Amino acid sequence: EKITDKINALPKDANYFSLEFFPPKTQQGFANLHSRLSRMSHSLRPLFVNVTWGAGGSTSEKSLALAELTQRQLGLTTCLHLTCTNMSRKLIDEALENARVLGVKNILALRGDPPRSEEYRLNGTGDGDDEDDSNKDFTWAADLVRYIKMKYRDYFCVGVAGYPEGHSDQSHPDNQSLDSDLPHLIEKTKAGADFIMTQLFYDVKAYQNYEALLRNHESGLFTNIPIIPGLMPIQSYQILRRTTKLSHAKLPPDILARLDRVKSDDEAVKRVGVDIISEMVESIKQSTTKTPRGFHFYTLNLEKAVAHVLERCSLIPTLTPADATSDDPDDVAVVE
Ligand code: FAD
Repeated sequence: EKITDKINALPKDANYFSLEFFPPKTQQGFANLHSRLSRMSHSLRPLFVNVTWGAGGSTSEKSLALAELTQRQLGLTTCLHLTCTNMSRKLIDEALENARVLGVKNILALRGDPPRSEEYRLNGTGDGDDEDDSNKDFTWAADLVRYIKMKYRDYFCVGVAGYPEGHSDQSHPDNQSLDSDLPHLIEKTKAGADFIMTQLFYDVKAYQNYEALLRNHESGLFTNIPIIPGLMPIQSYQILRRTTKLSHAKLPPDILARLDRVKSDDEAVKRVGVDIISEMVESIKQSTTKTPRGFHFYTLNLEKAVAHVLERCSLIPTLTPADATSDDPDDVAVVE
């Protein structure tokens, strides 16, 4: 099912959420994730799940195997990420076709991070001695959105990445500024993007400003499009410092102070982390006027922290009798 159809079918005042997973490297890791996912799909009931894609197609087989598990075996609406730099057109075609065959109807269209960024970005073709020069077609995520829409029309619901902290460039001069980034989000949306999913952030104000800016944008492009804020539950102090550094997400001083106070106690960091993320969710719920409201969680394939946040914020949808029967084929047989 398409994510946008599912969102449109929700009651007006509903909240929904998605969970992101990456394909494990080993068979054992895959088996562990399989049982975790079965459990999480029943107990948490996300509207959809995301499966990440390794830049340049490095995880293509494993990402597709994970998408097969989530979409086909577990019956979860799946959004497959797909990057386009350093990917031949052939690889992109294969990925899209495989996704279609699996019944995946949602793609998050991304640029990905080129291996040799500046040089690559300027000539767009990688090494130069690469026989397959089809990368020229795909320099930016907008190129991929355009390609998917041209080739598959409306078969796929296509999402794109948004970066809320373009706003706070004054305190972070190294960050992309929103002024330079917004035209590209406009381009991606004009190319046919159906929803926007954001980079992780801890600065709720920055997100709220970003959402307001998009919603009120004079183009009208963002008036109705789902904008899904990306939140990363806090698993440990070290992981938090590393991921915020990598993503250029600002850690507001009050959040940092609360975590600094307990940083030597892993359990306490997790507990305070659940408080922090839950407060972020509640605050976004309050400020977001466009409903239904969505939240995306970067799970890092872990269950507990996100489960606590979802429970605390009452984001887990109640099970209807129809869900209970359709979830379990044996039950359906009994009813019939
Ligand atoms: P684009 O929208 O193409 O933008 C990239 C940069 O180029 C922007 O700074 C923009 O300002 C600039 N730009 C865009 N178009 C033009 C143009 N025409 N001319 C000049 N400049 C331009 N990466 C992975 O490898 N795998 C994943 O699974 C993955 N999942 C992600 C999920 C989310 C929700 C997010 C937010 C990011 C994810 N990423 C993933 C990371 C992403 O690939 C990187 O952030 C990448 O650097 C940018 O991708 P993009 O799609 O935003 O690119």
